[in-house]
Amino acid sequence: MANEKFDMIVVGAGPAGASCALTAAQAGLKVLLIERGEYPGAKNVMGGVLYRKQMEEVVPEFWKEAPLERPVVEQRFWVLGEESLFNVGYKGMEWSREPYNNFTVLRAKFDQWFANKAVEAGALLITETVVLECIVEDNRVVGVRTDRPDGEVYADVVVLCDGVNSLLGKKLGFHKELRPDEVALAVMEVMDLPAAKIEERFNLEPNQGCTIEIFGDATKGILGTAFLYTNKDSINIGVGTTLSGLIKAKIRPYDLLEYVKNHQMIKPYIKEAKPAEYAAHLIPEGGYHSIPKIVGNGVILCGDAAQLVNAIHREGSNMAMTSGRLAAETVALAKQANDFSENMLDTYRTKLMDSFVGQDLKKYKDVTHTFESFPQYFKDYMPMVNKAASDFFTVDGTPKREKQKKILASFTEGRGKWQTFQDIYRAWKVMK
Ligand code: FAD
Repeated sequence: MANEKFDMIVVGAGPAGASCALTAAQAGLKVLLIERGEYPGAKNVMGGVLYRKQMEEVVPEFWKEAPLERPVVEQRFWVLGEESLFNVGYKGMEWSREPYNNFTVLRAKFDQWFANKAVEAGALLITETVVLECIVEDNRVVGVRTDRPDGEVYADVVVLCDGVNSLLGKKLGFHKELRPDEVALAVMEVMDLPAAKIEERFNLEPNQGCTIEIFGDATKGILGTAFLYTNKDSINIGVGTTLSGLIKAKIRPYDLLEYVKNHQMIKPYIKEAKPAEYAAHLIPEGGYHSIPKIVGNGVILCGDAAQLVNAIHREGSNMAMTSGRLAAETVALAKQANDFSENMLDTYRTKLMDSFVGQDLKKYKDVTHTFESFPQYFKDYMPMVNKAASDFFTVDGTPKREKQKKILASFTEGRGKWQTFQDIYRAWKVMK
């Protein structure tokens, strides 16, 4: 590899890296994609929902050939109590046919396929290779140093898609160590279960999927959610909460996952399912305020490395793909102008911030910090939802008007009317 020069080196073959390498190769750039895993996806973890729109912008009609699990036709939201469940959701058959809405995927299969699309388009992929650092000359990134013998490679631009910790971005001084309130620690299991059982339990036809986001008791009052997603013949079950919340509550993440798995409302769904894989991973959930410097001379950061995750809507892979695509398009322009300066590459940052990525992260810019600073939302109000539903649906001879009054009063009982009003206003303000 020594002394070989590329137009672009992409570090990391997750959704951001594969999308970037594919788009750049299609634009005629000479691209090197470097992945530390044995193969793309070997080390990658995700709950499993892949969004059609942003994927299609990179590979049109990908569903005709990509290794997908099930198109999601139903999204449920549960609020768990210790022995109750409040349920809302939406099921739509328009999501069961082209062009679909989103799909469940297993990353080990999906990432391999996606990176291979970049290879088919002309990118060179090397695996089992760790990029140790960026090579910086005259205040400009000019390549990368890998753990291979003679492992220095050069390029006009290096795109860092190396995931949430982005040690490479950190070495460049673009960001500091992530704070525990900026990241969620998620643990999950893939559990094998025959397709027929999945369809029976989740009320699905073959080739239909369901996702369930679980709030309330699933996280023991810590800011976060659990999830249950259907694959073809397995289920993904997991729970993710802020690291700071776990530390404060002194709860070990795998104990929380065991609690979720054994909850009486969840256990029947995974009965007889066999654990196949176990994984733990950080999710960058600091949002807009945590986005680091993402452009420098000869270098761009994408995806989780740029902290692009919308925790409210559990969107990360789509933001990764869009950022990768925009980075590649910017480098193609830079190549035409033969200008790889920070000033030129800043087009990427502008396009990203103008896109749904920047707009959505800006909209929710204070959500994580607010819910983290005011734990009453997850600790007090969530259980009230279940209590209110129980009261509402219990037929006990209480006149309905009186019942409604009691339910409304129960919301203000613990914290008082004024505090409750302030809590509602604050939540509305950060979510609006
Ligand atoms: P990654 O997918 O992390 O890829 C980074 C790649 O870089 C890896 O392949 C890694 O091996 C490689 N790499 C790192 N360092 C180096 C190095 N020095 N040299 C070479 N290679 C390197 N998002 C959704 O859209 N939907 C979901 O349902 C969802 N659920 C999630 C559930 C969990 C439990 C977790 C942890 C995340 C979830 N996310 C979800 C978020 C989503 O997984 C990420 O936002 C997305 O994977 C980011 O893609 P990426 O390419 O930026 O980074």
